Amino acid sequence: MKMLPLLLLGLSSTVLADETRDALFAASVEEMFPKLVETRRDIHTHPELSNQEERTAALVADRLRALGMEVTTGIAKHGVVAILKGGQEGKCVAVRADMDALPIKELRSVPYRSQNPGVMHACGHDIHTTVGLGVAELLAKHKDQVRGTVKFLFQPAEEAMPATYKDDWGAKLMVAEGAMANPKPDAVFGLHCSPMVSPVGATDDKPHYLKAGQLSYTIGADSANSDRFHIIIRGKMAHGSAPHRGVDAITVAAEAITALQTIRSRQTDTRQPLVISIGTIQGGQRENILAEEVQLGGTVRTYDAAFRDGVIEMMHRILKGITEAHGATYEMDYRKGYPSILNNEALVKATLPAFKRIVGEANVLEVIPSMGGEDFSYFSQVVPGFYFRLGVANEEKGIMHGLHTPMFDADEDCLKTGVQAMSAAVCDFLNAE
Ligand SMILES: [Zn+2]
Ligand SMILES: [Zn+2]
Repeated sequence: MKMLPLLLLGLSSTVLADETRDALFAASVEEMFPKLVETRRDIHTHPELSNQEERTAALVADRLRALGMEVTTGIAKHGVVAILKGGQEGKCVAVRADMDALPIKELRSVPYRSQNPGVMHACGHDIHTTVGLGVAELLAKHKDQVRGTVKFLFQPAEEAMPATYKDDWGAKLMVAEGAMANPKPDAVFGLHCSPMVSPVGATDDKPHYLKAGQLSYTIGADSANSDRFHIIIRGKMAHGSAPHRGVDAITVAAEAITALQTIRSRQTDTRQPLVISIGTIQGGQRENILAEEVQLGGTVRTYDAAFRDGVIEMMHRILKGITEAHGATYEMDYRKGYPSILNNEALVKATLPAFKRIVGEANVLEVIPSMGGEDFSYFSQVVPGFYFRLGVANEEKGIMHGLHTPMFDADEDCLKTGVQAMSAAVCDFLNAE
């Protein structure tokens, strides 16, 4: 016990109070800003598709090594993990940034437009990677303010849409390859660009832009369980003039499609979020032949894992009943995708004061979770996680287009907010008892 006052004295001489540290970091980030913009534009100009992030990963690894960090490359193909040891012993916290781009042709004519035809950073992962590098640089520069270890997870293949689901990829594969061990972090933070959000309590239909300089968060569910399914309905071929000799897979499929929508409207509690969307349908060969087979493809989105299992069962029951009633058969290949992100309530509440100090209370918005999917959840299944949104919109600059669209862009001022908010979240976490 006698050591305690000495220990406190020792700490107070090095680790600054939150507000003083914020001011110190803000000044450094202001100095770093031109370089952050340059890095973001470099990555934006050279986007790479999922599992092809060679150039981006090399850039990331070079920068981290130059900061004197312990760097491991080649995790989950092009993933990079780096360890920053702070000036004092303490907990470990992870910061995740995804690096891949999308098969979209960029339509915005900006000097940093994609030079890789048909590939674009339309989900802002160039911003995420740049913010991650910015946090690494800032904390490396102010190591004395870091009480513990920061683990950086630069992730490939968040956007991957593999033809087969035989092998893992992205975050799941990074976890399988040990990214969350040695050392195992005590918490993980991630952020995503967002031009638009649905604020809690908003009642109008207008788009709510999340501007550069703003942050948003959810408590609990943040993204959905994002699954895909493929259904084959098999009937019996016959001449179109004599349908009684066959089983028309198209008529059966039509009934099945309509009935599957009653899961949402009539068979589940409407207060439990659920989306069932059928996006593809193929069947038949000729106008005067009954289709022997129809294939349907779609997606199911939910927040709750047990509720999702119930929905899968209902889908089977409907498909079985309808096909049997008509003498047809079915097969369903249901693939569970990225699990829902569940933001840890205690971690969110402990982090919000940092956000409010950085951007002001009015610029930290609680929002309704999205039904989108994100594989950050594989990291936050291992340790408590907080995944928040970084505002990127700026109406005056015409930056107000949605993610995954050819006009998407981010107001680069968001880089400062991103680096400051993430760094404050990390330091507050490490300083907390
Ligand atoms: Zn995306
Ligand atoms: Zn994304």
